[in-house]
Amino acid sequence: MVPSGQTQLVCLLGSPVSHSISPAMHNTSFDALGLDYSYMAFDIGEDNIKAAVDALRTLNCKGFNLTMPLKNAIIPYIDELSEEARLAHSVNTCLFEDGKLKGYTTDGIGFLNAMTDSGIDYNDKVITVLGAGGAATSIIVSAALHGVSKINVFKRKNSTFDEVVDFADRITHASDCDVFVYDIADATLLEFCLQESDILINATNVGMGDDDTSLVPKEFLYKDLIVTDVIYHPAYTRLLKDAKAVGCKVMNGKYMLLYQGAAAFKIWTGQDMPIDLIKEKCFTED
Ligand code: NAP
Repeated sequence: MVPSGQTQLVCLLGSPVSHSISPAMHNTSFDALGLDYSYMAFDIGEDNIKAAVDALRTLNCKGFNLTMPLKNAIIPYIDELSEEARLAHSVNTCLFEDGKLKGYTTDGIGFLNAMTDSGIDYNDKVITVLGAGGAATSIIVSAALHGVSKINVFKRKNSTFDEVVDFADRITHASDCDVFVYDIADATLLEFCLQESDILINATNVGMGDDDTSLVPKEFLYKDLIVTDVIYHPAYTRLLKDAKAVGCKVMNGKYMLLYQGAAAFKIWTGQDMPIDLIKEKCFTED
């Protein structure tokens, strides 16, 4: 749709942003639904975040997405945080409404909706998550609030380990889900937790791009374990390749990207993103 005098601006802030699929995803959806909105990407680092938020408020912007490195840095400028954003301490979607800046995280719900789209039922299930960074914490919070019964988190025993243990305690108290944190170097414990798990999620960078390694020995995988990865480049990480070879159902991070966008789209427009169209236009087949 050609912009008009009433076009509502929505945008992405972060650095880098030039590779982002979000402008294509949202503008294609606005066009398809005849919505007078326009989505742009702006390369903004932490130093400029306050100036950017002030400018967007002045310009009467509808809202914006945040990507690296701004998902935590935006928090001091938010007036109202959703429960999931507060618990995850991460914001990837903002809405200007009633003179306030409201912050949400849609990464976790995006991952859960991607699982549903792939026919994976996470209700009452036991999940093992590798990593405890931004993607992992959003997924852990959403999974705990939306029906997963137990989450085993494996991360490196480094300076952030105790913080993640505190985070796990907070989520356990705020939900009906028990969250435990273990040292990823403990292979015996990892194998034990995978045996009791229904779903494994790799939420680390391991396996991204040219890295053909996995944090999970292939012999720990078994056919009834559902194996997922937040990474979508490559489409099949070493972990997913090993899991497919063992006969596991697998899912990569491609549709997490789609559904986190769909949840943001709903927050800004109140409408459902045309999922099938966006899959066809913006997500090429593996
Ligand atoms: P992040 O905040 O930097 O977290 C990375 C996590 O990976 C940390 O927990 C880190 O462990 C762990 N890690 C890295 N190397 C490791 C290793 N060798 N052994 C064990 N753990 C290791 O990054 P992020 O934003 O969560 O992103 C993680 C991945 O998710 C990236 O590949 C990103 O592209 C992907 N992602 C996908 C989507 C999507 O829509 N599909 C959305 C967001 C992110 P420590 O805690 O010990 O440092």
